[in-house]
Amino acid sequence: MNQVTVLTHLSDPDDRIVDCPAAPMLAGELRRRGVPAVCGVSPEQDRMFAVAVPTDGDAAGLGVAVPGDIEPRLAWKARDVLAGWLSVIGPRTVLLAGPRSFCAGVDRAVEVVRRALRDRGSPVYVRKQIVHNVHVVGELARLGAVFVDDLDEVPRGETVVFSAHGVSPAVRTRAAERELSVIDATCPLVSKVHVEARRFAARGDTVVLVGHVGHEEVEGTQGEAPHAIVLVQDVADVARLRIDDPGKVSYLTQTTLAVDETTDVVDALRARYPHLRGPATDDICYASTNRQESLLAVADEADLVLVIGSVNSSNSVRLVELARRQGTTAHLIDDASDIRSAWLTGVRTVGLTAGASAPEQLVDGVIAALRGLGPVDVVARTTTRETLRFGLPSAAGAS
Ligand code: SF4
Repeated sequence: MNQVTVLTHLSDPDDRIVDCPAAPMLAGELRRRGVPAVCGVSPEQDRMFAVAVPTDGDAAGLGVAVPGDIEPRLAWKARDVLAGWLSVIGPRTVLLAGPRSFCAGVDRAVEVVRRALRDRGSPVYVRKQIVHNVHVVGELARLGAVFVDDLDEVPRGETVVFSAHGVSPAVRTRAAERELSVIDATCPLVSKVHVEARRFAARGDTVVLVGHVGHEEVEGTQGEAPHAIVLVQDVADVARLRIDDPGKVSYLTQTTLAVDETTDVVDALRARYPHLRGPATDDICYASTNRQESLLAVADEADLVLVIGSVNSSNSVRLVELARRQGTTAHLIDDASDIRSAWLTGVRTVGLTAGASAPEQLVDGVIAALRGLGPVDVVARTTTRETLRFGLPSAAGAS
């Protein structure tokens, strides 16, 4: 038996049950180090290594149970990992950035799939990830959503949901050819960019789209006017542009870019094309902008910034990059289990935020896990309040 049990609870000398909230972090680190680990309670025949963690509330513990017949190299690794976590026990402050977590577009898209499952039953097909978050996708899959990369994977006549990132007209045409029942969860702020792309292209402009190659939103927007749109990612790309009529150039941006970097790119475009025209209101959406501003309100004071989000979440990755540009060490995590003990060495102040596609309960999970290492003082830093809500598309059962 080579599996280590990371204790979620243990008994104190008076037989009282003590929680071990840091268990997900310890288990994650064990698995990354090649030690099979599950969270649970100690099997009776195992050896147990556990300590009490000083907290400012209920008692907490930290420990592992190791089977007697485990391979010695795994036992050594397990002890090594546990020692790493014991070395970072101590009090901390969490600076909690706000706004964070779900935006109105993500909220709407997730609700669209939930309602489709409720009203139409399983399976409901979803083209691409409905939003870029492994936890959201996993939960909807458990409820009966089937995620596909290509519409050809959807049986003719079935229901398909288009993701929050939008689709090109070619995808809509393909859905019609396959007689699919479409529910469009494209965020209205992405649809706004699509409308601008069509309008700018229709007036004969070359449309420079600032965005990331291969991102689904960019592919959808490019598909609105493929012959008129050219993609640039950075200032160097702007220098390489060759546009036949420099007097007829417009720009658009992906909705989830970093505001500071995009300003540099647009300034470079304006320097090369003085007649450059752009959208009436910024394409970088309110949610991306707000999460970046709230991150800036915590990054300078933090020893470490943790951004909850998945690797393919553009706005989450931008938050990590922004924190690093402020000179603060920052990491992207899907949840508490991604946190490494080494990151916390000498760290007393943690800046914490979540990208627009990451559920708020993951934030609670990270705070709870950190509380398993000692007292945590949570200080909210809210830079603005978000009240925007989008109505559901009628095909999703909006009333
Ligand atoms: S991040 Fe912005 S564009 Fe993307 S879904 Fe949210 S509100 Fe819409």
